[in-house]
Amino acid sequence: MDIVVCVKQIPDPAAPQSFDGSNNLDRSGKLILDEADTYGVEMALQLVDAAGGGEVSVVSMGSATDVAGVRSALAMGAARATVVSDESLRGSDALTTAKVLAAAIARHPFDLVLAATESSDGYTGTMPVQLAELLGLASITFAKSVAVEGSTLRVQRQTELGYDEVTAPLPALVSVTAGVVEPRYASFKGIMAAKSKPLDVLGVADLGLAGPVGAAGAREAVVAIDAAEARQAGEKHVDEGDGAERIVAFLESIKVL
Ligand SMILES: Cc1cc2nc3c(=O)[nH]c(=O)nc-3n(C[C@H](O)[C@H](O)[C@H](O)COP(=O)(O)OP(=O)(O)OC[C@H]3O[C@@H](n4cnc5c(N)ncnc54)[C@H](O)[C@@H]3O)c2cc1C
Repeated sequence: MDIVVCVKQIPDPAAPQSFDGSNNLDRSGKLILDEADTYGVEMALQLVDAAGGGEVSVVSMGSATDVAGVRSALAMGAARATVVSDESLRGSDALTTAKVLAAAIARHPFDLVLAATESSDGYTGTMPVQLAELLGLASITFAKSVAVEGSTLRVQRQTELGYDEVTAPLPALVSVTAGVVEPRYASFKGIMAAKSKPLDVLGVADLGLAGPVGAAGAREAVVAIDAAEARQAGEKHVDEGDGAERIVAFLESIKVL
């Protein structure tokens, strides 16, 4: 069973963030593997193990100057990586990202594509479904558990009330939630092995994409960025025997009850 996992390299969330004049996140500093994607990598490794054979590969669009994040996925156990990196991709929106990743994934046969539900920096949550459409695959979102039975995929989809059980024929695309599995820590042996695993860097010309990419092809733009409102100080209430009523009244006022 061959599984492709989409992995995004993001600026370290622990470091201060800044934006360029076009409201794009400054990605010139250290990049790390988005924690959201460690779940997809782990899920893929477990599915390939359960299938008794096959390979996990990862694909990423972004910087090839710093590939430490992609190497982290290789250190966890993925066999190979493809990074699509090209100056002309700067300012790409989610749809262009999906077109680029679809072209990169379609170069080799696969049984399943995994992605996270949303990334930790852009978090539009739209890329995986666009990717499924472009690859002509069934798309199953919000997976909290994934199993493969023969050529059928069985997924539990997280919902507000519980979960839906969904099946689809392979190949398919699944976006997984955090918590679908517990991602492993890379072992020292894994980290050392990752240094020599194949990592292909492709440009736009290698993918034969039609139409403009990057800012020139983007139909979405971030038009403004505002700092999040500072957290307000809370109100203090002293219980004078009517604490429960006050809590209920407060919850009713914010329509929780
Ligand atoms: C030169 C360059 C500059 C870029 N600048 C920015 C930028 O400033 N801000 C920004 O947010 N993005 C940037 N990108 C990345 C790209 O445009 C975004 O990945 C895309 O818009 C998807 O948005 P999202 O993160 O909201 O996706 P979501 O739909 O929230 O992502 C869901 C999941 O899809 C997968 N996925 C998403 N993006 C990628 C990716 N690039 N590679 C592999 N898997 C992916 C991951 O599994 C992710 O968890 C840049 C890319 C390049 C090449």
